[in-house]
Formats: sequence, C-alpha cells, structure tokens
Amino acid sequence: MSITDAHMHVGDFPTFGVKLDEDHLAEYLAKNDIDTGFVFHQDNAMVRRVIQDIPGAYGLYWANPKLGDPIPELKDFLDDPKFRGVKLHPLMDGFHPDDPMVWPIIELLIERDLPALIHCGHPIFSLPWSIEELIARYEDAKIILGHMGHGNIIYIDASIGVAQRHPNVWLETSGMPMSIKILEAVRKVGSNRVMYGSDGPWHEPKVEQLKVQLAGLDAEDLEDVMHRTAQRLFLGADV
Ligand SMILES: [Zn+2]
Repeated sequence: MSITDAHMHVGDFPTFGVKLDEDHLAEYLAKNDIDTGFVFHQDNAMVRRVIQDIPGAYGLYWANPKLGDPIPELKDFLDDPKFRGVKLHPLMDGFHPDDPMVWPIIELLIERDLPALIHCGHPIFSLPWSIEELIARYEDAKIILGHMGHGNIIYIDASIGVAQRHPNVWLETSGMPMSIKILEAVRKVGSNRVMYGSDGPWHEPKVEQLKVQLAGLDAEDLEDVMHRTAQRLFLGADV
C-alpha cells in the first residue's frame, strides 16, 4: 500500500533538539516507506531547494502573518507546482487563527483551491474552537486540523466535532495517540476527510503509521487514510 505523509518537518529545530537533515530527506522518506511527503519549515526557500529533485516530496508554505504581509511571497511559492498549500502554526508564531492578518492567506488559498494545514491541539492559540471561528468564516476554504487535537482527549473530541459541523475540514492524525479515535473520526466524518501524518522528525513515522494501521479500519478506509485522502486534497489526484 502506498503511503502519503501529510505532515513532515525538514531542517533543524534547535529549540526542540529536533532535526531532519535537509540533505537526507530522500533517504528519510525511503526508510519510512513514505511515497509522498508534505514538508515544511519556517525557511521556505530551504524547503523549495530540498524538495526540488525529490519526486515524492512536496512543500507547504510556512506562513507567519506576524512577520509582515506574506501574500507576495506566498503567491510566488504557490506558482511553483511543488508547493501545495500553507502551514499555519498559530501557537508557535503567536496569533489567533481567526486574526484578520490570516484572512488574506485563506482567501488566496480559496482562489488557488489549495488547503491550509493548521496546528491544532494546544492553548492558547491552537484550540479547535478558535480554528473553528476561521472555518466558519470561510466555508469554501479547505482546512486541515493538524494533530486533530493532539494529546488531549477533550481537544481530540472537539476536533472531530468541528469536522462533523463543517464539511470543509479534514483531520490529520500525527501526534494524536489514540488509534480508536481514528476509527471514530472515520465513522463520523468519512475516510475521505481523515489523513495520516507523522510530524516527523518530532514523531517516528513508523510508529505513527502503526497507530493508524491498528485503528481497526477496513482495507478501503485504511487506504484512504494512509494515502488517497491526502493525494486528492493536496494534489487533486484521481485515486
Ligand atoms: Zn508539526
């Protein structure tokens, strides 16, 4: 079965003691049986350079609206077919997900029919209810709740609830420890709106894959979550 990983970081994160060597992304993908991986880092130019010659590697543009108007550079990156959407990290970068600074980013993504992957699962800026304010404002936007609530059962249930209330929401599994919640998410919103991500190198992709594989999904649903949902959403693939 092919594997598409919706959530990967490349480069050095010294604050966290975490690193995925930018010269060894291809090996990292192969070692973890990842056929297609979506990677990001605050240094978008580095990401562009790293993914260029790796057929299965794609980028999401890391947009931090607090550093100034990201739109001109974002347009440039989204003109590159290797960039398939935006990563927003309201927690790390310190903004409310529905801050007016964010709106032009979402409006451009709607225009390009590309998704935003938003870190979801920690107070104060990345709780599912806060992201839902943005989601409710832009019903045509495609929003992925990265980590689908992360390690907190209240936030996990709330993330599934947000996806139930809004058909333009996808759930991504990285860092969320409960296999049974992946099964519940698929039952409640459908396998076409749940996708595997590892958050490598924060988490081991093999562990994150096993977590999905042990969720009790039938073969069709498992293939959607491990591969097809992300292929359709990011790449418009007819799989
Ligand atoms: Zn991450």
